[in-house]
Amino acid sequence: MRQIDHVIAGGAGGAAARKGDVYDPNRGEVQAQVVLGDQAVLDKAVEAALAAQPAWAATNPQKRARVLFRFKELVEANMDELARLLSSEHGKVVADAKGDVQRGLDVVEFACGIPHVLKGEFTQGAGPGIDVFSMRQPIGIGAGITPFNFPAMIPMWMFAVAVAVGNAFILKPSERDPSVPVRLAELFREAGGPEGILQVVHGDKVMVDAILDHPAIGAVSFVGSSDIAHYVYNRGVAAGKRVQAMGGAKNHGIIMPDADLDQVVNDLCGAAFGSAGERCMALPVAVPVGEDTAERLRAKLIPAIEALRVGISTDDDAHYGPVVSAQHKANIEKWIGRCVEEGGELVIDGRGFKLQGNENGYFVGPTLLDHVTADMDSYHNEIFGPVLQIVRAKDFDEAVELPSKHQYGNGVAIFTRNGHAAREFAQRVNVGMVGVNVPIPVPVAYHTFGGWKRSAFGDTNQHGMEGIKFWSKVKTVTQRWPDGSPDGSNAFVIPTMG
Ligand code: NAD
Repeated sequence: MRQIDHVIAGGAGGAAARKGDVYDPNRGEVQAQVVLGDQAVLDKAVEAALAAQPAWAATNPQKRARVLFRFKELVEANMDELARLLSSEHGKVVADAKGDVQRGLDVVEFACGIPHVLKGEFTQGAGPGIDVFSMRQPIGIGAGITPFNFPAMIPMWMFAVAVAVGNAFILKPSERDPSVPVRLAELFREAGGPEGILQVVHGDKVMVDAILDHPAIGAVSFVGSSDIAHYVYNRGVAAGKRVQAMGGAKNHGIIMPDADLDQVVNDLCGAAFGSAGERCMALPVAVPVGEDTAERLRAKLIPAIEALRVGISTDDDAHYGPVVSAQHKANIEKWIGRCVEEGGELVIDGRGFKLQGNENGYFVGPTLLDHVTADMDSYHNEIFGPVLQIVRAKDFDEAVELPSKHQYGNGVAIFTRNGHAAREFAQRVNVGMVGVNVPIPVPVAYHTFGGWKRSAFGDTNQHGMEGIKFWSKVKTVTQRWPDGSPDGSNAFVIPTMG
């Protein structure tokens, strides 16, 4: 059985006390085992990080950027291998897995511009003979704890920016699909990244708690489900760290009566069912405005959903593959049943789906539920599967209110030909990322990613200038170079600028 090990400078040492199974979700079989680390393993990684980080921080930013340029080239050269590996553990189709890697590489490209974005501010003559300038310095050691659903993109959101700024970074990826994060750390070394600057420790809650409590780790970035995000945020902050913790989502797509419904149906199918719905920016809730819009949308959605092809993740013709685990499949099917019990109309039922030849795979058929209402548990909670719920809104105001009042506030989209309605919606809606005729509004790398409400705890987002701020501390220097003659000021009074 293949074993997936930590990537620690000098090796982790010692046999792993605990291991976790890594599945092939296409077949429902264990394909590898990942070692599950503890405090002692983390201590080794921290020791190596502490030894390597000062020299890396002292390396000029242009040279750090050159390592990232080479890393980008190596990831591109290994794109096929990475995408296949990713797809074999996650279950998303290979083309989608390439998108996962590419969206991470976009952040690496952004981080290649680190010499420019690290430039501080300067004020000449802030007072008599006084200049003030600021600089951004690394935190020291940063850590990232990442979810299963984007095993390439989300680690790169974090480490590309963190190491570019001059930090050492310790990644604790999801134990469900840990191989691609390991390959990324290996490629970083091959690109010339010094040993100890990007390390990977595997594990579960034991390792997460060790990271949160470790006094030498100054900043923790987390992405995962909301309850754990909240826990990570509280425990990390209580230990005096800087923490950003992104959580779950339940994104709505508002369909105005004037929307181009053919385009909407195409976009909704991709955004609700792509990656088996396992995206925090998926669109699992469709909100048609007005009964007529709802009926027209439903009539077009049904044949489009029935035409979706579910297949193994290496099937080039499949729209989506299996979900990540047997437990997750059971959970999705439980939520479908719950929605029906609550009064939702089951239009297309994807439960009990079996793929011929891969009967033990974790497949869930595409599911459509209509007449879902805001008081249902199945609406309130994240299902994270290939399930689309239609919640009918009587008018525009109700359509703005639904995502605004939902516990999650990650992304939202509006489909319309009316610029005024779109502008009004973007202005009023209580959600962090908005798409106008864009179903999955994941911001480009030089902007910033982050939701609101229970979709994110902490006050800085991922990547873009917010990422630079999160992974660095600002230092402000006020300086004067006296010419030797006393200026007669009273040193016992708080200095003013004269
Ligand atoms: P998860 O919360 O189960 O796991 C995330 C990380 O937390 C993993 O590294 C895991 O090992 C660790 N973990 C699990 N249980 C823990 C515990 N009890 N204590 C401490 N750490 C623990 O999430 P997941 O199932 O891997 O990923 C899916 C979730 O992530 C969904 O809710 C999805 O919406 C969310 N997500 C959010 C974003 C975003 O940017 N907001 C992006 C991607 C995914």
